Amino acid sequence: SKTMDHSIGPKSLAAFDRARALIPGGVNSPARAFGAVGGSPLFIDRAEGAYIFDIDGRRFLDYIGSWGPMILGHACPEVVDAVVRAVGRGSSYGAPTEAESELAEQIIDAVPSIERVRLVNSGTEATMSAIRVARGATGRDKVIKFAGNYHGHVDSLLVAAGSAAATLGVPDSPGVTAGAGGDTIVLPYNDVAALEEAFNQHGSKIAAVILEPVVGNMGLVIPSSEFLNSLRSITEKAGTILIFDEVMTGFRLAYGGAQQRFGITPDMTTLGKIVGGGMPLAAYGGRADIMDQVLPAGKVFQAGTLSGNPVAVAAGSATLRILKEESPYDSLDKMGDRLSEGLADAATAAGVPHQVQHVGSMVTLFFNPDPVRNWDDADRSDREAYARYFWGMIGEGIYMPCSQFEALFFSRVHTEAMIDQTIDAAKKVLASF
Ligand code: PMP
Repeated sequence: SKTMDHSIGPKSLAAFDRARALIPGGVNSPARAFGAVGGSPLFIDRAEGAYIFDIDGRRFLDYIGSWGPMILGHACPEVVDAVVRAVGRGSSYGAPTEAESELAEQIIDAVPSIERVRLVNSGTEATMSAIRVARGATGRDKVIKFAGNYHGHVDSLLVAAGSAAATLGVPDSPGVTAGAGGDTIVLPYNDVAALEEAFNQHGSKIAAVILEPVVGNMGLVIPSSEFLNSLRSITEKAGTILIFDEVMTGFRLAYGGAQQRFGITPDMTTLGKIVGGGMPLAAYGGRADIMDQVLPAGKVFQAGTLSGNPVAVAAGSATLRILKEESPYDSLDKMGDRLSEGLADAATAAGVPHQVQHVGSMVTLFFNPDPVRNWDDADRSDREAYARYFWGMIGEGIYMPCSQFEALFFSRVHTEAMIDQTIDAAKKVLASF
């Protein structure tokens, strides 16, 4: 890893040493540590538009966008203004505001399957709460999730999880009891036969099926339409609640998320990232009869001191307003096609076995000769090749996800010229393999 650290500046190296003595692994969330690519992370000073600046004063074209939220670009002036105005009025009250209803209306308008919505502080809280409500509403215990899908660090969902869990090779975390994982059934993604078999065996006991409707957390994996259609019909027949975890895909793949893009209506949806405009805010919602089980309308407990926080709500509301007005999705799709084709051509020219998989502004270059449809496929990717690509791109001033098992994200302020610069950098890096 010493040879790889050359592209990390001295101030970032020193900052990481300091942080490691204070914070476990030096980071407040594991994916940030660059562990999967064998190095030391950049420490960030600030970000603006499509660029992120490290504390050594270097500028990088950013393809992480805070792992999804920054679809408008960093420090979008309208969002910054909204946050500044809100914080000047007091940062938290622990009492209701009209702004929360405003954001709820925006969410319900964007995602028609959501009739009622609760605001929470993180994607983890959203999925944890959605599972609890689904169990409360159905009176059933079992939950199906898919290997390589990540839904935050909810105990019962931290089984065969993607993202940092997959990256670090510990899908099952110490500290999760057998009891907490015992009602979770893990199935392979995109496997209709496995789904049918699970329902044949346990159908009347399954409270919910939760999935990433496009997976970002094992690298970008696309659901087959047969898989999505079967999920909808099988769960409907069994009285099981279908939960789309759109924490990554919501407001990204379309204003109405993956469910709008694919025309499938789930019973419940979890949102995060973009809905908070870069602030700690997430949401879960769904059919009114299900959501009205939540206290104080119903009996399922869920609460939060900072839930619906006025500063976070202001950022989310401003972000959604701009997305609805501008509807950048056609343009993001075109840029995604351009980037994907360019990366694939670069890998082909270099003779590097690859798959570029993408939907809209989420893209993964898999160092894998075969299509990636599930976690077993993803797991066969060449992590070492990805690490070399990652460090090569850092050397070219381009900040890509630090793991083969994370999708890249770009924003509406990434220009065609930036995309082309990225493709040229990839050509250079891959040619040296
Ligand atoms: N669900 C999905 C699909 C995610 O991608 C993530 C985070 N990457 C989460 C849930 C958890 O969200 P948070 O990190 O805000 O807890």
